[in-house]
Amino acid sequence: MQPVRGTHDLLPEEFLVHSYIKKVAFEVMENFGFSGVDTPIFEFLEVFARPLGDASDIVSKEMYTIHDKGGEVLALRPEGTAGVVRMLISNGLQQEMPAKFCYAIPCFRYERPQKGRQRQFHQIGTELFGVSSFYADAEVIAVGLEILKSLKVDNQVRLHLNTIGDLESRKVYREKLVEYLRGYENDLSPESKIRLEKNPMRILDSKDQGDRKILESAPLLHDSLNPESRAFFDGLRNVLETQNIAYTIDQKLVRGLDYYSHTVFEFISDNLGAQGTVLAGGRYDGLVKLMGGQDIPGVGFGSGIERIAMLLTEKPSPKRPTTIIPVSAEDEEAAWSLVFNLRKQGLPIDMGYSGNLSKRMKKASKNNARYCIVLSKGDLANNQLSLKDMDSGDQFMVSVEELPLRLKA
Ligand code: ATP
Ligand code: MG
Repeated sequence: MQPVRGTHDLLPEEFLVHSYIKKVAFEVMENFGFSGVDTPIFEFLEVFARPLGDASDIVSKEMYTIHDKGGEVLALRPEGTAGVVRMLISNGLQQEMPAKFCYAIPCFRYERPQKGRQRQFHQIGTELFGVSSFYADAEVIAVGLEILKSLKVDNQVRLHLNTIGDLESRKVYREKLVEYLRGYENDLSPESKIRLEKNPMRILDSKDQGDRKILESAPLLHDSLNPESRAFFDGLRNVLETQNIAYTIDQKLVRGLDYYSHTVFEFISDNLGAQGTVLAGGRYDGLVKLMGGQDIPGVGFGSGIERIAMLLTEKPSPKRPTTIIPVSAEDEEAAWSLVFNLRKQGLPIDMGYSGNLSKRMKKASKNNARYCIVLSKGDLANNQLSLKDMDSGDQFMVSVEELPLRLKA
């Protein structure tokens, strides 16, 4: 039995790291007024295919599609936003604008597995609906940054910011870009050649060296921004500057789909190799409508938990139990009653299961026990228990009554 390529078991140490990241993130997101939600891991294929579009990498190459026994075509969730928009529409939540949701979810993409890139991975995300002001964009950027700060990884990332303007500005720009790129059509990478027809703005984010060279002198999107788009971007920048949120403008940062508008941002790290994007987001004003809902604006981000985990320098430590170890087989029953009794008082208690005394001690130490209680009926008859401090190695007797207080302290 082998795990599926690109999937990864979370063994206790890593599980703890993931739980810690999610706990810290939810605390921050809730402080910013976001409410936690969860949506199904699979949806009708259409839920993801329509917003992402056939030309996107996700739909054309990366989606896990399922034909179920009832003849339905479903897909495993490749990202969080589409499912949350579907949730908004199918639960009648469009009447309750503005609305702010957050989540921590597994996602699935058929990609080439490498460092920081898996086929099942996990995302933390937020979505803010119903606010067309740039304050919402600022809030989404700020909550992302606060999560990274609370996890003490903010010193390893830089905020890249861009605007792709509104639909009108992008139409003007697209024409200029296509005209420019036609002059180099034969030199473009095969992928970019296809994109020139289907989705030219995605070429801006090509990683091909030849493409990058051609793009160096391409027209700049910011030169095509209309006054409204410019004012929106200036407004956002002003809030960020007032709040001392540092950023660099990166005109190569794009989202190639029509329902995106204005803000695009990424927190990028140099410490993760080629997969440097830790947290990415932007404004998607046309999305709810595209999915059959009302004309509700939105802005949000998604962040890879595995990538954050790689940046963590302070690992969370597991709970340290007190391990109860019976000296001999005759002491087992009394040991178990002590275990049950102490657990009822909410203490972290483990049982030293099997082997001789020294083996059980070793196992307790390996499990990072804070204390061991070596229990014998003889001691118990005198109302005494032998307590060992596993850090100092000190061993002393405590009375049965005194024990819970001692352990709580
Ligand atoms: P990339 O350029 O790395 O392929 P993307 O544009 O496909 O990223 P998004 O769809 O914006 O990524 O997803 C948001 C975040 O989720 C990414 O910034 C990254 O942290 C994480 N992520 C995306 N795909 C994967 C994956 N296959 N494995 C692990 N994390 C991922
Ligand atoms: Mg990708």
